[in-house]
Amino acid sequence: MSFTDYDEAPESTSILSIRDRYGLFINGSWKAGRGESFATISPSTESTITTVSEANSADVDVAVAAARTAYDKVWSRMSGAERGKYLFRIARILQERAREFAVAETVDNGKPIKETRDVDIPLAAAWFFYYAGWADKLEHVGMGSKPRALGVAAQIIPWNFPLLMLAWKVAPALAAGNTIVLKPAETTPLTALMFAEVCEQAGLPNGVVNILTGHGSVTGAALVAHPGVNKIAFTGSTAVGRQIARTLAGTDTKLTLELGGKGANIVFDDAALDQAVEGVISGIFFNQGQVCCAGSRLLVQESIHDELIERITRRLTTLRLGDPLDKNTDIGAINSQAQLERITAIANTGEVEGAKRWSLDCEVPEKGFWFPPTIFTNVASSNTIARDEIFGPVLSVLTFRTPSEAIAKANNSAYGLSAGIWTEKASRMLAVADELRAGVVWANTFNKFDPASPFGGFKESGYGREGGRQGLAAYLAEGEGR
Ligand code: NAP
Ligand code: MG
Repeated sequence: MSFTDYDEAPESTSILSIRDRYGLFINGSWKAGRGESFATISPSTESTITTVSEANSADVDVAVAAARTAYDKVWSRMSGAERGKYLFRIARILQERAREFAVAETVDNGKPIKETRDVDIPLAAAWFFYYAGWADKLEHVGMGSKPRALGVAAQIIPWNFPLLMLAWKVAPALAAGNTIVLKPAETTPLTALMFAEVCEQAGLPNGVVNILTGHGSVTGAALVAHPGVNKIAFTGSTAVGRQIARTLAGTDTKLTLELGGKGANIVFDDAALDQAVEGVISGIFFNQGQVCCAGSRLLVQESIHDELIERITRRLTTLRLGDPLDKNTDIGAINSQAQLERITAIANTGEVEGAKRWSLDCEVPEKGFWFPPTIFTNVASSNTIARDEIFGPVLSVLTFRTPSEAIAKANNSAYGLSAGIWTEKASRMLAVADELRAGVVWANTFNKFDPASPFGGFKESGYGREGGRQGLAAYLAEGEGR
């Protein structure tokens, strides 16, 4: 399928019809939340987009009960082929409404329209198409004569790829036969609420998908603690992931965790440098670096260090930071004030601990949350910026001399989500990839996603896989995860 179905990028919000206020989507209808309403703002202008409800624990009870009834009475009794038809319908509606979703995502998240238009929204549709195709094939792939869904899945997603993370979670769960209560991040609820409308449009039976907006500490915590939930799927910070695992200890609720990362992009001296420059840049500056699998550590072979850094900084001066709705914008806004403060605080340790800082010299809009692309050279493995996930547009550069040193440095991390290798030697590519403790290793490319590829981490990056057949198994009784 094509990822660029547009003649022109949408440049205004006029195609959006956003309600002044959204309720909770429970059992196929909209209800006011019992918690306090809150505004979602645009991080590039700080203006309010709309007001959303907060689900408290009583609302969570109602939503989980609706999902249970829908599971028992409707969804678990349907054939896979019937479930698949709904998923295909959802996928097509997402494609039809792609422009609208791209604008909404850009306004709510702050990421460039180029990215939502070409990556987030087309991939979200692709995920539904892919898992729609699985729904009627479960019986025939050796997963047992009648695969059993888990029941009610609670899904808690982050703000960095709001609709895409929803698709990663909702599509396989529905294909496998589960019903859902989903909580989007408090700063990016808009496309999840629009997705509720898509479910209505697709005629999805009531209660199969329920969308609860709210804060993590209220709505999220109530979902995690709910005894009627059979599966928790979480993507977010390692700290919250740990807390969820502790809450679930000793219960039979299944859990998959997609947590942080500190991906290494390893560039050998024989790499095609033009290609590597592009890959290193998009590896860390795509979505302002707010990507769990970002290539936030550049490991460069010592002999080409100066040349590579020179090329990278030269290329960076051509990037445009600013209005995310402008189709020429490369670097958008940081998602929230809190995230900007986290990035700033970690980046500020760089120089203190002895690294050399280079930041793109560019004008930053007066309003909104902005952080210019930044590179630290002269970084030691022990430095905070080499160890902690920054989740922002900050690249930490380390050097190595031999392949074994590159492997050791890449693996010297609490995380193990992603890595990239740049070399023209196939034997070296395979040998190094084999030694890396990372869930995904890209070869002469970075940040490539396909619904058929399982994605997930080692070590503190979490457990369980999303994507592919393994992503489906995570929603089946005999499947993967805890
Ligand atoms: P976070 O708090 O882990 O947020 C992820 C999701 O979990 C959100 O929906 C959040 O709701 C919810 N949540 C928060 N506390 C919860 C709790 N006690 N129980 C249940 N759900 C809860 O992440 P963040 O604060 O937005 O970002 C902090 C850091 O996490 C980032 O700097 C980054 O390092 C990492 N992060 C990683 C990913 C990833 O893709 N792996 C994504 C986002 C962030 P609220 O939105 O209301 O807090
Ligand atoms: Mg949070």
